[in-house]
Amino acid sequence: MTTTETRRRLRDATKKSWAEPWKIKMVEHAHWTTREYRAQCLAEAGYNTFLLRSEDVYIDLLTDSGTSAMSDHQWAGMMLGDEAYAGSRNFYTLEAAIQKYYGYKYIVPTHQGRGAENILSQIYIEKGDFVPGNMYFTTTRLHQELSGGTFVDVIIDEAHDPQSLHPFKGNVDLDKLEALIAKVGAEHIPYVCLAATVNLAGGQPVSMQNARELKALCARHGIPVMMDATRAVENAYFIQQREPGYGDKKIAEILYEFCSYTDGCTMSGKKDPLVNIGGWLALNDYEKFEEARNMVVVYEGLHTYGGMAGRDMEAMARGIEESVDDDYMRSRIGQVVYLGQKLLDWGVPIVQPIGGHAIFLDARRFYPHIPQDQFPAQALAADLFLEGGVRAMERGIVSAGRDPATGDHRYPKLELVRLTIPRRVYTQAHMDVTAEAVEETFWMRDRATGLRMIYEPKYLRFFQARFERM
Ligand SMILES: *Cc1c(COP(=O)(O)O)cnc(C)c1O
Repeated sequence: MTTTETRRRLRDATKKSWAEPWKIKMVEHAHWTTREYRAQCLAEAGYNTFLLRSEDVYIDLLTDSGTSAMSDHQWAGMMLGDEAYAGSRNFYTLEAAIQKYYGYKYIVPTHQGRGAENILSQIYIEKGDFVPGNMYFTTTRLHQELSGGTFVDVIIDEAHDPQSLHPFKGNVDLDKLEALIAKVGAEHIPYVCLAATVNLAGGQPVSMQNARELKALCARHGIPVMMDATRAVENAYFIQQREPGYGDKKIAEILYEFCSYTDGCTMSGKKDPLVNIGGWLALNDYEKFEEARNMVVVYEGLHTYGGMAGRDMEAMARGIEESVDDDYMRSRIGQVVYLGQKLLDWGVPIVQPIGGHAIFLDARRFYPHIPQDQFPAQALAADLFLEGGVRAMERGIVSAGRDPATGDHRYPKLELVRLTIPRRVYTQAHMDVTAEAVEETFWMRDRATGLRMIYEPKYLRFFQARFERM
């Protein structure tokens, strides 16, 4: 470490408050509405926050997907879009950024994360295969199932307990994985899907040690490890903060090492990479890459744009570089922790430890009187909008969907409402207003009622399902 660096670190360590390493150059107006108006909006939206109009929302915490604010540097890059059909200069810039920070060899661009999941699933999974993963993700599991695979949850038990304070609740339980390999045989496991961080567990990280041991175990059986890298930079921040031996390392170094224990990844550029649209599939195996590169022209576009404009690829290349900045990531997760700590201080039940991209309200403890098949988290998300104009998302029984074999609801242990913080969009004052809306809803919890589902789409039902009050 240089002397300036040491001095800077010392200064940082003694600094009590943090602030974002940027200032605001442009604003977008948001409007406050009346409770009466919001009640009408909710009824029209079938009590599904996905069906609300954005202009009716005051603070939009539906998702951190594609909702990031781009920097002036990224916007400047948009003007450098090379919109050639083939061989756009921006593709090569993006490819180089991914290779530099994530370390993978071959890159296939896609329109967003699920485009990459579709291709990965199709080229790896055969009918009857099993795909172990550290908790499911909605689109990821659906693509595995559409390719004839069965998802198997191999996350540690602590992940399913919203009150467990385990520092790496995203870890894979290697005994569960070993048992699965013994049961079905390595030849029926096309890859292990490693999500870092784990969205549905509450944005919980995976430790470096777990990734290293997972890689060693899989290598013994000839099974590749594919990462869902949507929030791998946030995961690297948690390793820096919590794992012995990593406190002095830069997030960029940690990210690179973490990726080195995996054989490829799917990426939603709409999360960590700080853009509004885009994604990619990365692979280290050349033959599989050739298959993927052939498949991308069927579903996404030519292999040098994959559904993105040249300008989008330039913005993403620049976003990747900005996303690994230590000060940025500290303020990003610092803001999430600020909101979460406020709610904890007020006794509101949330998932702990506080995760990377969102605060998850524990609807089971929030609305203990509403049975799970009356959709307590869905009802809570609706009530939160009604009270405070804050839009959140259900992550419970509605998101879990139905078991394709039995047709019954899946009953997940976690029944959560996600308050997702967009990157570089809201201020601390917005977090205060959000916390007050949650608190108000919490005080009125005894009066809350459940919902009845009146329309259910076949796939990913949480996006478009409609409800009415019981
Ligand atoms: C958002 C997300 C995806 C899918 O990415 P899209 O860009 O929305 O298609 C996959 N996995 C995780 C963990 C995600 O959060």
